[in-house]
Amino acid sequence: MGYVNGLKCRECGKEYPKEPLHVCSFCFGPLEVDYDYEGIKKVINREVIQSRSNTMWRYKELLPIDGEPTVGSQVGFTPLVKANNLAKILGVEELYVKNDSVNYPTFSFKDRVVSTALSKAKEFGYKIVGCATTGNLGNSVAAQAAQACLESYIIMPADLEQGKIIGTLIYNPNVIKVTGNYDQVNRLCSEIADKYGWAIVNVNIRPYYGEGSKTFGYEIMEQLGWKVPKHIVVPMAGGSLITKIGKAIKEFVQLGLIDGADTKLHGAQASGSSPITTAVKGKTDVIRPVKPNTIAQSIAIGNPADGFYSVKSINVSGGWAEDVTDDELVEGIKLLARTEGIFTETAGGVTVAVTKKLIEQGKIPRDESIVISITGNGLKTQEAVINKLYEPKIINPSLAEFDKVMEEKMAAVR
Ligand SMILES: *Cc1c(COP(=O)(O)O)cnc(C)c1O
Ligand SMILES: [Zn+2]
Repeated sequence: MGYVNGLKCRECGKEYPKEPLHVCSFCFGPLEVDYDYEGIKKVINREVIQSRSNTMWRYKELLPIDGEPTVGSQVGFTPLVKANNLAKILGVEELYVKNDSVNYPTFSFKDRVVSTALSKAKEFGYKIVGCATTGNLGNSVAAQAAQACLESYIIMPADLEQGKIIGTLIYNPNVIKVTGNYDQVNRLCSEIADKYGWAIVNVNIRPYYGEGSKTFGYEIMEQLGWKVPKHIVVPMAGGSLITKIGKAIKEFVQLGLIDGADTKLHGAQASGSSPITTAVKGKTDVIRPVKPNTIAQSIAIGNPADGFYSVKSINVSGGWAEDVTDDELVEGIKLLARTEGIFTETAGGVTVAVTKKLIEQGKIPRDESIVISITGNGLKTQEAVINKLYEPKIINPSLAEFDKVMEEKMAAVR
């Protein structure tokens, strides 16, 4: 029946039953899922996990549902790619890309949190689900709700990229566009959750939703042969993913699945929306909300819900944080594509460009192992690169004209 003890306040430690709650009624701290690790230790080990299906649910004891997953049972276990070509360009010895741009079913890491949240929402008996989204979350909630026969409401800023909007509308959810930024959408969704009693995945069932992100970290460790890398670079929006990767590593150590961990977590943001990297670089844990202005819309959150905890996770690990301009992130997208054949979205461009910066700064030594977290797919944010690529030649279907193109090419080389 699952290994969840209940929920626990991250601030004061007060315990709550496993219900759709998300804030502590005493101190207003966020609630977190609390597990029976002794019980889990008795039933899982490396062999048991390896014998299971290649999905994120191979770690089901560490996920907050009671029975079997009913939504998104095929999500996760995406490739961890040894990125030798990119390593050469960046001048480092051991580099990997964890590639959630090919996650199922909607090509981003959000499929992980959504399968967890919707499986839990079904256990709670909800019939209507929803989310506040910067794009990818809406895609995944709409798709997985369709598959699970749940009605869904996707609330988004009106100016998202076309690929993100179409990638939601196609599943026929209820879409509401809001004239405002994500932080305003999020505030509205808190009020909607209170008034309508729906399961808004990243608001009122957020403690369960966030746990799905841990599987990104579990997979990195298992795919490295039950080891941790020295460095993981992670894009940050609300700051949930980086915090949960930290939790994943801690849990694997606690369960004896890995021998120990000394991984530095590094956070990545776009300079136009960088409240978390600004705090880390300023050596404070006080997050000053900003008004986002960047093409990296999927991570453009000015008032991050887990900002404080992501600063803490970074500092405890001994990692650092950096941000890059929109031009740099576009270069990051193009660099990953031409070296590794992986087309990532703007958030991935940020992560690649920040990794490059951290290596140049010496924050990531060139002889230590590095994992770059690629969290979304470039086909959804084509606006970012459409004017940054070369214009192909157009010819008539004649070999003579093709020969001419080749002659010009050879002349240019000489
Ligand atoms: C949502 C998102 C993130 C970051 O998520 P948080 O957990 O809110 O920090 C990173 N990359 C992509 C592509 C996303 O959609
Ligand atoms: Zn509390």
